[in-house]
Amino acid sequence: MTNSVRVIPIECKFGPISAFAYYVDTPEPAIIDTGVSISTVQDLEPTLARHGIRIEDIRWILLTHGHVDHLGGAYGVWEKTGRQAKVVIPKKEARLLRDMNEQIVDYKLLQGKYITDPTIQEKHIAMLTTDIGGTIEPDLEVAEGDSIHLGGNIALKVIETPGHSIGSVTFVVEGLNWAFAADAVQMYGGFSGLPTIEAPTLYRKSIRRLLEEVRPKKLFLGHPFRDINGEMQSAQIEGEQVASVLQASLDRDANLRDLVKRHLANGLPSKQNGLYGPFESIAEEIGYTGDPRNLPCAFFVTMNGYHEELIGSQVK
Ligand SMILES: [Zn+2]
Repeated sequence: MTNSVRVIPIECKFGPISAFAYYVDTPEPAIIDTGVSISTVQDLEPTLARHGIRIEDIRWILLTHGHVDHLGGAYGVWEKTGRQAKVVIPKKEARLLRDMNEQIVDYKLLQGKYITDPTIQEKHIAMLTTDIGGTIEPDLEVAEGDSIHLGGNIALKVIETPGHSIGSVTFVVEGLNWAFAADAVQMYGGFSGLPTIEAPTLYRKSIRRLLEEVRPKKLFLGHPFRDINGEMQSAQIEGEQVASVLQASLDRDANLRDLVKRHLANGLPSKQNGLYGPFESIAEEIGYTGDPRNLPCAFFVTMNGYHEELIGSQVK
C-alpha cells in the first residue's frame, strides 16, 4: 500500500505517430512499455536524464502487450541496464518478444490478409523488423492475478484485458488503483481514426470490467486517442474522465458492431478489389479515407475482428 508514486509519461515519437512509455519511480524502478527501437536513445534516455534519472538504473521492463510500438524499445533499455533489468510480458504474447518471426506471422493473419500487393507486404514486414531492437527471452510471463513487487511495499497487479490484442494486460498499482492499460482502451481510435480491435467480444468484456469492477482512479494509455468529435485527447486520464473514456470506448464498439452487421450480414461482397477490400461500403459510409497500406493501420485489423465476430469464427 502506498499514498502516491511518481509516474513520468514519456512520449516516444516515430513518423506521425507517438506511443507512451511510463517510468514508475519505485525503489526498483520500472518502465511500462518502451516505444520502438529508436525510442531508447531518442526519447527514453533523454527524457529520464532531464528528470535526473539514469536509464541504467531501471530494474523492471514491463510490457503490456506484444505490439512493436510497445516492445520494440525493450531490447535497447535492457542493454542499457547491462541486461540486469527483469523483462516481463503477458504469457499469451511472450512469443512476440522472443521471436521476431512471430510478428510476421501475426501481421499475415491480420492486416496482411487484406494487403494483396506483395511489395507492400514486404515493405510492412521490413518496417516491423526495423522497429524491434532485438529479441529477448523474458524473465517473467504474467497472467491474471499475478503481482510484481517493485520494492517499498509497491506492487502492480496484473489484470488480463484482451481485445486490442489477444494477450493485452493492464498493470494496476495496488492501493492507488492506477491502471496502466496502454492499448487495451481505444476510445474512438488513435492516429488512424479507428480503434484497433483484434477481438471485439474480448475487448467489450475488458472495457466493461475496467468500468464496473476495476474503476481506476487514473488511467494511463498507450497513445493519445480521439473522442466522439475526432479530437485527440490526453493519454493520461484521471477522475471522472476515466469513466467517460471507458464509456466512449464501449459506445464506439457498439457502433462498429452494428456497422459491420448491417454491411456484411449477407456475407462478404464478391467484388473486393479496391483499397478497402471487402469493407469498401463500410469505409464509404463512415467517410474513412485513411490508406490501409500504411503501417500501422487499424482498418483491416478491426474490420476483420468484427467480421469474424459476426460470423462466429472468433475466440469468445
Ligand atoms: Zn497495440
